[in-house]
Amino acid sequence: MTAPLDNFSYQNPKNSKKGFLHAENVSIAKLAEKHGTPLYVYSEKGFLEPFKALKRALKPIPHTICFAVKSNSNPKVLALLKQAGAGMDLVSGGELYLARRVKCPGNKIVFSGVGKTEREMKEALAYQQGKGIFSFNVESVEELNLLNSVARAKKTKAPVALRFNPDVDAKTHPYISTGLKKNKFGLERSEVFELAKNIPSNIQLKGLSIHIGSQILDLSALEEAFLKLKEVVAELNRFLKTPISFVDLGGGIGITYKDEVPPKIEDYGALIVKHFSGTGLRILIEPGRTIAGNAGVLITKTLFRKSRDEKDFLVVDAAMNDLMRPSLYQGYHAIIPVEQELANRGDEVNSDVVGPVCESADCLGANRALSKSISSGDLLAILSAGAYGFSMAGTYNSRPKPAEVMVKGSTSRLIRKRETYQDLP
Ligand SMILES: *Cc1c(COP(=O)(O)O)cnc(C)c1O
Repeated sequence: MTAPLDNFSYQNPKNSKKGFLHAENVSIAKLAEKHGTPLYVYSEKGFLEPFKALKRALKPIPHTICFAVKSNSNPKVLALLKQAGAGMDLVSGGELYLARRVKCPGNKIVFSGVGKTEREMKEALAYQQGKGIFSFNVESVEELNLLNSVARAKKTKAPVALRFNPDVDAKTHPYISTGLKKNKFGLERSEVFELAKNIPSNIQLKGLSIHIGSQILDLSALEEAFLKLKEVVAELNRFLKTPISFVDLGGGIGITYKDEVPPKIEDYGALIVKHFSGTGLRILIEPGRTIAGNAGVLITKTLFRKSRDEKDFLVVDAAMNDLMRPSLYQGYHAIIPVEQELANRGDEVNSDVVGPVCESADCLGANRALSKSISSGDLLAILSAGAYGFSMAGTYNSRPKPAEVMVKGSTSRLIRKRETYQDLP
């Protein structure tokens, strides 16, 4: 079974001949028994290890790692990362509210996104008794003008980075590729210059940002973007009275879902250091998936098996509303039995793991080799569900959202209660 299982491994509980999947040292079967399914289970180490690796890799240069809150917005996850020194990359007023709840310092917050509202701008400028946030990453002329008028009304200046679209192919899935001209994101090179020459009076142009896509497996695309970015910074500094003080390099790198070999965090960091050390620029990055992706799994219980000529269907109690990536953009998640004995029996059959939702798209994993012996009641673990898992969950088909559990060593705690029917209306 080729799966990214750093903090999730089969272990035999005391006095047991049977192995079960554990998160760190906690049995996932026990967690499912206690909290029910579907259930998100996270490992603290799963978040902290990649975060610390990023920090180490960027140590030679001034930097801020702003966790992309949209990838996993559980307040306990945010608190954990904040405690470890992370800032936050936000894309909505709701996320700003969460940042406030965990007391994230404003000077470590950037506000991204192509459609900020007036209310969101006001709230961000008012953050921490009016100290505000580190930067609004602005994506259009109209947005800049609106931000200017909001800042003027508050008699302040809004700190801004212009999001430059470097027209680079991130070579990732089209739905998570954002750095091409044809994407809705960012400003073209010429627009950046035009805006920078006519910065409105209540805007303070501090930086430039890029974000070319997610799940990037090829550092050369990033390097191409860095080169274009550096060139724009140099050009801007020729006429700006106050030079650009920081660049925001966007989201992190890809992770292993199946058999992808992502760049090493160390190499990614080294590439950044190579291009930006000595420039005097502070470096921001906004990783989500790199930190959270392999820190969590979604546990589901098998309901029924339906056998067909071509394949079997395993109908499980998790569905597309709990984990949207497979139906939204063909995201692949490895699926393994929680009971080790069912993992390598040699009686695997071609199986689709499907949820109960009334949509053919409600398939969590197609054409998987899974044991014929898996039957009603058996637990399956859907791996790499720590990022864009619960945070994308909804209640379609009036299905209450699942619970979330955090494991640390041999202990676990419920970090979000399962929704009930009463939460639905
Ligand atoms: C989604 C997003 C991120 C996070 O991307 P990951 O691939 O999860 O690291 C960062 N920055 C921006 C602007 C985004 O839209």
